[in-house]
Amino acid sequence: MRIALISEHASPLAAPGTEDAGGQNTHVAALAAALAGLGHDIRVYTRRDGPGHPPMVAVRDGVTVVHVPAGPPAPLPKDALLPYMGEFGRWLGDRWDRDPWTPDVVHAHFWMSGLAALTAANPHGIPVVQTFHALGIVKRRHQGTADTSPARRVGFERRLGRLADRVVAQCRDEARELVGMGVPRARISLVPSGVDLDLFTPEGPVAEPPGRRPRILSVGRLVARKGFADLIRAMLYVPDAECVIAGAAGTAEARRLRLVAERCGVEHRVRLIGQVAVADMPAWYRSADVVASVPWYEPFGLTPLEAMACGRPVVATAVGGLLDTVVDRVTGDLVPPRDPRALGHALRRLLRSDMRRFGYSSAALDRARTRYSWQRTATQVEAVYQAAAGVRVEAVAR
Ligand code: UDP
Repeated sequence: MRIALISEHASPLAAPGTEDAGGQNTHVAALAAALAGLGHDIRVYTRRDGPGHPPMVAVRDGVTVVHVPAGPPAPLPKDALLPYMGEFGRWLGDRWDRDPWTPDVVHAHFWMSGLAALTAANPHGIPVVQTFHALGIVKRRHQGTADTSPARRVGFERRLGRLADRVVAQCRDEARELVGMGVPRARISLVPSGVDLDLFTPEGPVAEPPGRRPRILSVGRLVARKGFADLIRAMLYVPDAECVIAGAAGTAEARRLRLVAERCGVEHRVRLIGQVAVADMPAWYRSADVVASVPWYEPFGLTPLEAMACGRPVVATAVGGLLDTVVDRVTGDLVPPRDPRALGHALRRLLRSDMRRFGYSSAALDRARTRYSWQRTATQVEAVYQAAAGVRVEAVAR
């Protein structure tokens, strides 16, 4: 199949770990590669956010990234991109009018990509598959007035959910939310993200091997909802451990986290190591005794899976995708969100028991390897594309 992946703000070429570049970038890059591995021809359309970006970049056999001129060729926060989505969609539609490369299916990632996808694909009768990656309704519930998303996001997402031929939910919790939003149940397919099992392995180099203190690692974009402040507060209950946090430093959130550490008197045991390159990430996971992933809410959450693929036990909050990936008391421990005390106790108990950590590690590795390869994800997504195309063919035949 010829497959167009649309990822307006999250380019597969950008390095994850900054405020607006994270799981979606990784997801789109890996999904494109895995679909190409199944023999498909993939184009990833992303907004041109730098003046020097070439119109097209061949990433690997079967995967080309296309930079779409929509809005200024400069980085913009994703919450400022909505006004350019009409332009983005029209550019795509024009392109598919003129170009012999017209997709058989369009797969939009994030809600704004969905708007552009419908604008471009509908006149051509091309089926649209939607993955939201995050839902405005959930974000608003948790962030309230701190949510900087455009006000119309929730309404747009509802309509998108009804207009797309198929919606891919990444976890059971998201599927439930989608049903609550009025998305027809029969059009929702549950397909979890994957993890790069060639990169994330238990064996290999170890970053800055810890000294005598056990190491707790946490990885992600430094935004409040990722719960790093809760983890820092939890260090009060884990007196002998060090806490290493990976994610772009130099931001307001990084400064706030340092302040939280100072206020709790744990600053000498908390290290913010800044953004880590993807290639170096496995070495950091391997260096950890425990990986903590403690967001307030989480649409999927790649970092716990990456840790599991490196054979590391995970302490995670019992939210969103983490309820599917982390099996409580088998591959890790689940704790309530925003509860530093419960988190601290879970971490301390796990660090004190070599047996428990060893058991979790092997179960985690097994789970990641048997259930979360990108090849498996791509095969399931391929079936969704075929179903979406089938739906369209049937409708025409009637
Ligand atoms: N990441 C990275 N370098 C960093 C911090 C994060 O490469 O310094 C990667 C991390 O390995 C993972 C992604 O960014 O692949 C974060 O994905 P996740 O689903 O955990 O969170 P999201 O960004 O989607 O909220």
